[in-house]
Amino acid sequence: MRTFFAGPLTGPVVEPPASRRDGSGHWWPGGVSSGAGEAAGGVGGDGSRAGGVGGGGRGGAVPRARLGDLFAVAPGRTLDALAGRFFRDARLRQYVDRYATYAGSNPYRAPAALGCVPAIEHGDGGWYVRGGLPRLADALAAALDKAGVDVRTETEITEVIADADRVRGVRTAGGEVVRADVVVVNADAASLYGRLLPDRARLRRIAGLGLSSSAFLMLAAVEGRTEGMPHHSIVFSGDYRREFGDIFDRRRPPEDPTVYIGCPSAHDATMAPAGAESWSMLVNVPAGDPARWPMPPEAYAELVLERLASRGHDLSGRLRFLDLLTPADLRDRYGAWGGAIYGGAYGGPLAPFRRPGNRGPRRGLYLVGGSAHPGGGLPLVAMGGRIVAELVARDFSRSDRRRGRA
Ligand SMILES: Cc1cc2nc3c(=O)[nH]c(=O)nc-3n(C[C@H](O)[C@H](O)[C@H](O)COP(=O)(O)OP(=O)(O)OC[C@H]3O[C@@H](n4cnc5c(N)ncnc54)[C@H](O)[C@@H]3O)c2cc1C
Repeated sequence: MRTFFAGPLTGPVVEPPASRRDGSGHWWPGGVSSGAGEAAGGVGGDGSRAGGVGGGGRGGAVPRARLGDLFAVAPGRTLDALAGRFFRDARLRQYVDRYATYAGSNPYRAPAALGCVPAIEHGDGGWYVRGGLPRLADALAAALDKAGVDVRTETEITEVIADADRVRGVRTAGGEVVRADVVVVNADAASLYGRLLPDRARLRRIAGLGLSSSAFLMLAAVEGRTEGMPHHSIVFSGDYRREFGDIFDRRRPPEDPTVYIGCPSAHDATMAPAGAESWSMLVNVPAGDPARWPMPPEAYAELVLERLASRGHDLSGRLRFLDLLTPADLRDRYGAWGGAIYGGAYGGPLAPFRRPGNRGPRRGLYLVGGSAHPGGGLPLVAMGGRIVAELVARDFSRSDRRRGRA
């Protein structure tokens, strides 16, 4: 990860341990020096290295929680306050605060528990799927196919069919009814309780959380190669408080945005044609309709490109193609509530406990995905998947036993 700050960087800089860095400014688990793919092991690689979800990833036994752990997560403190305890340098504090955005939240309100994210990232490094994340979906599709699962894509579900006490199945947009004892809903919880199985009280509870942030994504094909370009870069704004005030209070895209640049072709030749680069530039923006922004998305893209140019990433004359994705696209294409990336926001110390749970209000109904417990982001979503699989196995094997079937 390379970070760029709006001001000159003259103070002390925390360096990752040399054993965890490769030659191009990245650092990977185990001090890999020859590229990301080997570190990641690729999809379907060494499962023990890729790490299971839910704590078994390091191969050892999961340590038991102790009372002291409760205080280690600094209950009642915000992430920014936690950062302030350890760092006086405003840029390092800003760096730690950045991790609130991993949960779509405001570091000045999000719980300090999110401090575990940089601890994990710095301690264990990150994994990369060679060929990009769609390969993960391909691997899952292949595993489902092998298990004989009938996967239907391009099939919208318009209703979860249920009696007063249990689910009966789902209805598709084409009117087909698929009967089932178990329905696992991966759609946004607000969409479940707002439309698929209307439940005003639960919807109100979700609305009470407030929306997490959304994203303005610029996907670019870039002519030529950028000398020394790392896979991940963050170009920080000059005033973080103002930036989050724009996102969460004034609800407008930040005037001076922090921009994440992902350039996977820096490491992975499959991610761009020879002599070119693929860049994804991501800005955190408020969820909600971009029609209410003070400027159209195209003009905002210009602003972002100008900001990047002024901070050393000038793409003038190198852009072959630029695609924009706004909160409205995330809402319309994927059913995300208001285009929010992580469902409800993590605001306040109890926020993690107020997310919709994994068991739904009818027997056989389960919620999984970024808007439900434990939260958004691929690692948590995968953990949620495992939790739900265990719940289904537990709930249904017990009833089978009662009925003398197992
Ligand atoms: C720009 C961007 C960058 C991100 N970066 C990161 C990152 O770096 N790291 C990270 O961990 N996370 C990141 N995330 C967050 C991560 O992508 C989400 O937390 C995660 O994808 C949520 O998974 P999910 O299964 O809940 O929802 P989704 O991945 O949105 O999947 C839900 C699926 O259900 C479908 N669906 C919805 N309603 C219906 C319906 N009624 N009928 C049929 N299908 C339906 C949708 O079309 C969608 O395909 C990012 C998200 C975005 C948008």
